[in-house]
Amino acid sequence: MYVFVKENEQERTFVNEEEINRLLEENSDPDDFKIKEILQKSLSKQRLEPDEVATLLNAKNKEQWEEIFHAARTLKEKVYGNRIVLFAPLYIGNECVNDCEYCGFRISNKDVIRKTLSLDELRNEVKALVSKGHKRLIVVYGEHPKYSPEFISKTIDVIYNTKLGNGEIRRVNVNAAPQTIDGYKLIKEVGIGTYQIFQETYHYPTYKKMHPRGPKSNFAWRLYGLDRAMLAGIDDVGIGALFGLYNWKFEVMGLIYHTIHLEERFGVGPHTISFPRIEPAVGTPIAERPPYQVNDEDFKRLVAVLRLAVPYTGLILTAREPIQIRKEVLKLGVSQIDAGSSIGVGSYSETDPEVVKKSQFILGDTRTLDEVIYELLRENYIPSFCTACYRAGRTGEHFMEFAIPGFVKRFCTPNALFTLNEYLNDYASKQTKLLGKEKIQIELNKISENQRSKIIEGLEKIDKGERDVRF
Ligand code: SAM
Ligand code: SF4
Repeated sequence: MYVFVKENEQERTFVNEEEINRLLEENSDPDDFKIKEILQKSLSKQRLEPDEVATLLNAKNKEQWEEIFHAARTLKEKVYGNRIVLFAPLYIGNECVNDCEYCGFRISNKDVIRKTLSLDELRNEVKALVSKGHKRLIVVYGEHPKYSPEFISKTIDVIYNTKLGNGEIRRVNVNAAPQTIDGYKLIKEVGIGTYQIFQETYHYPTYKKMHPRGPKSNFAWRLYGLDRAMLAGIDDVGIGALFGLYNWKFEVMGLIYHTIHLEERFGVGPHTISFPRIEPAVGTPIAERPPYQVNDEDFKRLVAVLRLAVPYTGLILTAREPIQIRKEVLKLGVSQIDAGSSIGVGSYSETDPEVVKKSQFILGDTRTLDEVIYELLRENYIPSFCTACYRAGRTGEHFMEFAIPGFVKRFCTPNALFTLNEYLNDYASKQTKLLGKEKIQIELNKISENQRSKIIEGLEKIDKGERDVRF
C-alpha cells in the first residue's frame, strides 16, 4: 500500500502528497473515544498507522491534547525509564556545494567563513570534548567533494584514536550527505554508530523550492539515502525533518511513512528520529522567519505524537531549542540530547570571536555539559554516556530496550549508572559530583537485591580506577 520504490525523481515515491492530505482531511474531527482507542494501542507498544497518526495530529481541544501528552509521558516512563543519553555535535567542515535556503553553510552565503579542520585541529577538538567528559559524538559535514567517504572515514578514525587521560570517544554517529552504497561501506568499516540524514521536508514542491541547486536538489536521491545505507550494512539509521519549511502535521506524516517504508523494506524502522526547528543563521533571511514557523505549543504536540506513533524509536532533541522547551519536551519521550555543544568549526578547542560566522545556525541552549548534567540530576533523570550495545555488537539497541522484556534493567540502567559514575569521578564539578552520587544511591535502592550487588561491584571498580566497565 505504501511502498512504491523508485530512486528516480520522476517516479512516485513512498511519500504520497495526496494520500497524506486526504488522511489529514478525513480525520480532521476526532472524537474522544477514537483518540483514547489510539492511545491504548500506542501504550500497548504498537506502532501506529498513518490514519491513526493523522487523527492524533488533529486533536481539537485542550482536553484531547492533555490526554495525548499524558500518554506520551506514560509511555516514556513505562518503556524507557529516566535515562537521558548525552552527546555532542562536532562540525568537521562547513564547505558546501548545495544552496539550502535555510542553512548558513549554503554555497551562496558570502557571510560565512569557510573552514575544514586539519587532522591536528580535529585532534584538538576531540581532546577538548573528551576533557569535558564526552563519550558520544555526532560528526557533521557540509556536502562537498572534499568530504568524500575516504575523508569521512579518516576523520572518524582519528577521533576514535585520540585519547586523553582516562577518556576517549566511544561512539561516533554521522550526519553527512547521502552516499552511494560503496561509499557507505567504506564509512561503515571504521565503526560508526548511527548514520543520520534528515529529509528536511517531505513535501516535494517545498523541497524543490528550498534546494534549488546542487546534488541535494534531487529529492529521491536523499529520500532513499538511508535505504542505500541499510543495503551497505549500516543497521542504525536516523531520519528527521526540519520543522518550519512546511506544515508540521504533513512533516510528521512524512516521518511516519518513512518509518513504515524502512520497516517494510528492511524489517527494521529508524533507530532515531530528529525534529529540529529552524534556527537563525548568519546571512540567511529565511532562517530568521521560516515560512511555517512552529510555535512552542505545536512543537510539544509534534514530539508527543511522534513518541506515540513510533514507540520503539529514539527521539533526539538538540541544543537548537531553548532551555525551558528542552525541559518540557524531555518528559514527552525524548531519549537523547546534546549538551555543552558548540557548532562553529573548530570552536571547542579555540575561543574564536568569529565563531558565529563559522556556524550553521545559532544555538538556543549554551549551558556547559556539567550544568546540563546537574540540571538533569535535579530533575531526577539519569544522564548516561552508555555505548555498551554498540561496542558489544548489539545494533539497534533502542529497539531492544523496547522489545526485549527486562533489557533496560539488565543492561541500560547499570550501564547508565557506570558511565555516570565515571563522569562524576573524572570530570564533574563538586556540586554535580555530590548530587550525582546521591542519585546513584537512590537508583540502587530501586533495584532488586540480586541485581544491585552486581552493579555495586561495577561501581566500586570504577571508584578504584577501572574504566569502561559495562554489561
Ligand atoms: N550537509 C549535510 C546535509 O545537509 O545533510 C549534513 C549536515 S547538515 C549541516 C545537518 C542538518 O542541519 C540538516 O540536515 C538540517 O536539517 C539542519 N539545519 C540546516 N540549517 C539549519 C538551521 N538554520 N536551523 C536548524 N537546523 C538546520
Ligand atoms: Fe550544505 Fe547541509 Fe547546509 Fe544544505 S544543510 S547547505 S547540504 S550543510
